[in-house]
Amino acid sequence: MISAPLRLALDGDALVANWRTLDAMSGAAACGAAVKANGYGLGARDVAARLAAAGCRDFFVATWGEAAALSELGVSVSVLHGVREEDLPFALSAGFARPVLNTVQQVRRWREAGGGPCDVMVDTGMNRLGVTPEDVASGLIDGLNVDTLMSHLASADEDVPANAAQRARFAALAGQGGARRMSLANSAGIPLGADYAFDLTRPGIALYGGVQAQAFAGRIRQVVTPQAQLLQRRLVPAGQAVGYNATWTASVPTEVAIINLGYADGYLRCFSGRGMARAGDLALPVIGRVSMDLVAIDVSAAPDLAEGDWVSIDYALPQTAALSGLSQYELLTGLGARFDRIWR
Ligand SMILES: *Cc1c(COP(=O)(O)O)cnc(C)c1O
Repeated sequence: MISAPLRLALDGDALVANWRTLDAMSGAAACGAAVKANGYGLGARDVAARLAAAGCRDFFVATWGEAAALSELGVSVSVLHGVREEDLPFALSAGFARPVLNTVQQVRRWREAGGGPCDVMVDTGMNRLGVTPEDVASGLIDGLNVDTLMSHLASADEDVPANAAQRARFAALAGQGGARRMSLANSAGIPLGADYAFDLTRPGIALYGGVQAQAFAGRIRQVVTPQAQLLQRRLVPAGQAVGYNATWTASVPTEVAIINLGYADGYLRCFSGRGMARAGDLALPVIGRVSMDLVAIDVSAAPDLAEGDWVSIDYALPQTAALSGLSQYELLTGLGARFDRIWR
C-alpha cells in the first residue's frame, strides 16, 4: 500500500497504561473498554487486540457491523444499540457478541427469537436509551439470560446531584432480573467513587487520553498525535497574505510551510490561526485558514525543515478541546480515513 502523507502516531504503551490506571481506579470491579466509532477513531481492532492482551475482557460497540470487525479477537463484545429485526440472523449466530437490549420491543424480539446471553440497559434519568426501572421491577426481563444490567450517567463529568440520583436508582435494581453483573460508570464515572463501579466499568475516552476529571490529570497519558508531511516551503514577503480569504498577512518576511492535513481529515477550521505544529521542540503556529486538505504553518523557527519532512500537531485532548471549542470526543472521532494509523 502507498504510505499516506499524514499519519496518526498511536502510543500503544500509553493506551495500555491508561487501561491499567482505569482498571486500578475501578477497584474490585472489572474494567472494560468502549471501542465504538472505530475505537474513537484509532482503529477498533488494534485497540481491542492491545487491550485484550493486557487482560481486558469486556468490549462495547454501537452496532453489529462494529462487532463483526472484532470477531477474530476471541473477546466478548456488547452491542450497545441492541438488536433490530435485520440484525437477528447475525446476532443469533455470533457467539462472541450479545445485544444490550434497550426497549420493550427489543426484549420481546430477543426472547421470541430464542436469543442467548444479552445485556439490558436501564434508563435512570438520561432519557436516551433503556427500559425503565419499572419495566424491570414488573418482570420484563425475568427469564432472560442477562449477563450485565447497565445504565449510563448523563453528567458524570460534572459535580451535580443528578449523579447520586442516577446511582441510587440503579443500585435499587440489584438482584432484579437475574443479571450476573451490574455496570454504570463510563470514564468520568470512575473517579466519582467506589460506589459507582458496581461489577464492571466501561471507560472510553480516558483510554484514548481524555481527561475530564481532576483525578485523571497527570495519570492519563496522551495516545494520539497527528503528524503531517511538508508539501512546500516558501518565503512570504511582508504585506502578502496566506490562504483562503487572506485572513493572515505577513507583517515581516515569513517562512511558511504547507502541510498535508485539512478539515477533511478532522482538523477543522476552528484551528485556523490557533493550532500549533511542532518540529521537535520548535513551535510552528498555524497561520491563516485551514483548507480541506492543507494547512499553512509559520516555520521561521525551523530553518532546516524542508519539503518531505514531518511535523507533529499539538493534540493533547483537554488543552486542544479548550483551544478549539470541540469536545475531546469530537477531536478523536473526527479524525479521518486518510491518516495512516501507526502504532508504536
Ligand atoms: C460511549 C459509552 C461509554 C464510554 O463513555 P466515555 O465517556 O467515552 O468513557 C460507556 N457506556 C455507554 C453506554 C456508552 O455509550
